[in-house]
Amino acid sequence: MKYEEVSNFINGNFAGNNLHRLDVTSPLNGKVISTVPLSTASDLDQAVQAATQAFPKWAALTSKKRAEVLYRYRTLVEKNTALIAGSIHDENGKTINEATAEVEKSIELTEFACSIPQITAGEIMKVSDGVVCRTEYTPLGVVASICPFNFPHMVPHWTVPNAIALGNCVILKPSEKVPVTAMKMAEMLKEAGLPDGVFNIVNGDKTMVEAICDHPGIKAVSFVGSTDIAKVVYRRATSNLKRCLALGGAKNHLIVFPDADPNMTATDITASFSGTSGQRCMAASVMVAVGDVKHIIDKLCEETRKVIPGKNLGPIISSESREKIIAYITRAEQSGATILVDGRKAKVEGDADENGFYFGPTIIEYSDPSLMPEEEVFGPVFEIVHVKNPDEAIQIENNSPYGNAASAFTQNGGLADEIASRASAGMIGVNIGVPVPREPFSFGGWNDSKFGAGDLTGRGGIEFWTQLKKVTTKWKKQEKTDWMS
Ligand code: NAD
Repeated sequence: MKYEEVSNFINGNFAGNNLHRLDVTSPLNGKVISTVPLSTASDLDQAVQAATQAFPKWAALTSKKRAEVLYRYRTLVEKNTALIAGSIHDENGKTINEATAEVEKSIELTEFACSIPQITAGEIMKVSDGVVCRTEYTPLGVVASICPFNFPHMVPHWTVPNAIALGNCVILKPSEKVPVTAMKMAEMLKEAGLPDGVFNIVNGDKTMVEAICDHPGIKAVSFVGSTDIAKVVYRRATSNLKRCLALGGAKNHLIVFPDADPNMTATDITASFSGTSGQRCMAASVMVAVGDVKHIIDKLCEETRKVIPGKNLGPIISSESREKIIAYITRAEQSGATILVDGRKAKVEGDADENGFYFGPTIIEYSDPSLMPEEEVFGPVFEIVHVKNPDEAIQIENNSPYGNAASAFTQNGGLADEIASRASAGMIGVNIGVPVPREPFSFGGWNDSKFGAGDLTGRGGIEFWTQLKKVTTKWKKQEKTDWMS
């Protein structure tokens, strides 16, 4: 599939076609499917100007009026699910089923934004005789959302619908690896009746991210991507006195006890670590096996062997990323780890193109937990370490620099509660491989998985994209008034 050249979207128009361009390569076959502009600071400035102009009118609307646009948008996304899923599949490589699930999640996120008028009514209280205090959520102004490659549609929906429902005007910077799907977002928001300038897209790479962090007209920046870049963005945006929330990478620990249900645990973990080819920040990364769980590991290996590249497993985003994953596994092997299932040997099946960046699911088992590197792998790779008791398991989880998710697999509620309370992670699962909190709960990790206060989605998003105004009123008491005059 070939797509038209990617354009910026500024003030309701696609533009920026004469800029320096980068190829967009499909991981499905290694072919160039489009090109993306590497925009300059002056392109960003045009977008900020358009957004700044649109802001007063958009912010002045009632939140119910703003939500009406999102209701219409939600319907358009639902109607065009197959089209959007097709472009996610082509540019990111995830399977059509996974891409469809991604669009469904974007719909759920938009529905939450549609509910914002109902949940942002504010507080009101008589604080002394004749004096009343009330709060109002007010928008920030022009805000920016910088996105990664792994969810070309969903991650922009973590931020854009909430930010605009709350009265802000938004600049979206998609990943330069997957910029095609974002154009569909622009088209559909326009068709839904969003006024020009409220939503803009400026494409680019590092230079554009830096320009966003530096632009004085942008009040807040959200970032989702790897930890190293999240740190850079957080430091740069906050040093320019912007509000910033920067979500980073992850290495998620699953603490598995011998009493866990073997079938449920094995299928859940397989789906978690191999789904979207392991390229998600909530993927299962490490099993911390407490005591003898060989029966569960055997079942896990059996389930994993059913995951076939090209059939029910998409490719890795690029050949460089695939090489990095292979090098990681080779290093683990050289350090003495056992490769229980070896994705390096997997054959591509189905209708898949052999030139795609496919890689089979892999399970690495370490005899000594200290041999496992701290780094995030970001591929369909699952690592297993063994410990003797829950305290040792918690220690391993707590020692990880990350803190996105952690899960306990057991039938013992007390033990599960103990893990939930002592794990150093923002999102906890019990017998769940991908413990993403669903709306209205908010998404956000801890430690090196997130920089900045609060969370990005759900109720957390309301706090991030607004500033609270506190209004205190006192009216002179009117006496002897003829109310009927
Ligand atoms: P990335 O950090 O390479 O890129 C993210 C964004 O940063 C892109 O828009 C890119 O253009 C920009 N960028 C890249 N290099 C930059 C630089 N040197 N300076 C400034 N900006 C730069 O991340 P990715 O590879 O696109 O996505 C995968 C990463 O994202 C993984 O680490 C994954 O765990 C993480 N992620 C985290 C979450 C979360 O919620 N915590 C969600 C999704 C993905």
